[in-house]
Amino acid sequence: MTPLSQVEPTGTSPVDLLAANARVSDDRGLIDAFGRRAQDLRISLTDKCSLRCSYCMPAEGLDWLSKDKVLSDDEILRLASIFVGLGVTTIRLTGGEPLVRAGVAGLVRRLATLQPRPGLSLTTNALALADKALDLAAAGLDRVNVSLDTLDRQKFLELTRRDRLSDVLAGLQAASEAGLSPVKVNAVLMRDMNLREAPQLLQWALESGYQMRFIEHMPLDAQHAWTREQMVTADDVQAALTSVFTLRPIGHLDHAPAESFEVLDGPGQSHWRTDPPRVGIIASVTRPFCRDCDRLRLTADGQLRTCLFAHQETDLRAALRAGSTDTELERIIREAVRAKPSGHGIAAPDFRQPDRPMSAIGG
Ligand code: SAM
Ligand code: SF4
Repeated sequence: MTPLSQVEPTGTSPVDLLAANARVSDDRGLIDAFGRRAQDLRISLTDKCSLRCSYCMPAEGLDWLSKDKVLSDDEILRLASIFVGLGVTTIRLTGGEPLVRAGVAGLVRRLATLQPRPGLSLTTNALALADKALDLAAAGLDRVNVSLDTLDRQKFLELTRRDRLSDVLAGLQAASEAGLSPVKVNAVLMRDMNLREAPQLLQWALESGYQMRFIEHMPLDAQHAWTREQMVTADDVQAALTSVFTLRPIGHLDHAPAESFEVLDGPGQSHWRTDPPRVGIIASVTRPFCRDCDRLRLTADGQLRTCLFAHQETDLRAALRAGSTDTELERIIREAVRAKPSGHGIAAPDFRQPDRPMSAIGG
């Protein structure tokens, strides 16, 4: 992609170009060197988790961050308020498993007081959601994404190494009842495990009123076992779904990473409760959407990452704890965003998986 400074807006003279670049430098927002505006901040609340999904973590082991390294609620609030001042409009809490951190509803309540008030969402494995959904909604959480890869108890146990499917289903129902909608369900498909279950998962989601999305497995697993040959691609998912459903592509909606499809017909149609009936595919590997990426990530230990696959991080925790003013923090954040890479480069021959796994970045 061409840096903004070299981009001539279509049909404009050099004078218009100067004016356009002046507008960008006046802008209070976070704009990178490729003209993308960062508006979506993912904050990881912890690197710990209550599951051990095989595509994410090893069965055992993995060093956790020590408590003193993890940002406190006050530190998260301070940084979030600076990001909101710089044009971030949506904040997603994630992890690890965010709900293993104590006091998440209290943190949500404080984030909901930021001005302008950001949209607030949570990505969770839902084990603790049945207990917490009402409190979270009352605190100001707008919606949830729940990760669920199979409806088969035995496969769930194999995939996550814990026998907790019934807790996830209870969590989903509680989220719906608490009004945390639309409730989105994210599934990662593995070739010999749950790829064949894709149509069943979609039918179940349509009948339950959840928005189903399938995510390509990315080279971010802690055990570095990902291979391009083994991964289930968006084409594989589409082939599995269109063997029983009729889908109409409707593109990426509002910077969403998911490519959306309207579901025109398929099994159980008279019972579908999802309106409009849709399914999404997040094809980060085979159909990258870096050109439209509006995301930033803050790890639980206060490192700013401008890309999931970045090797560089910016240490906001050190700056914060060294007593930096808001203006100084703003400048550090702007510089980091300015240096955001144009793309993840997974297809490049010299691609190297980042040291941090997904669970320690915040998916
Ligand atoms: N524990 C929470 C959960 O599972 O929803 C939040 C964190 S988890 C890292 C966020 C999302 O990343 C989940 O939907 C999970 O399925 C997905 N994920 C984890 N490892 C992945 C990988 N290597 N490739 C693609 N998605 C992955
Ligand atoms: Fe935990 Fe989420 Fe990773 Fe599964 S995907 S091990 S629930 S962090």
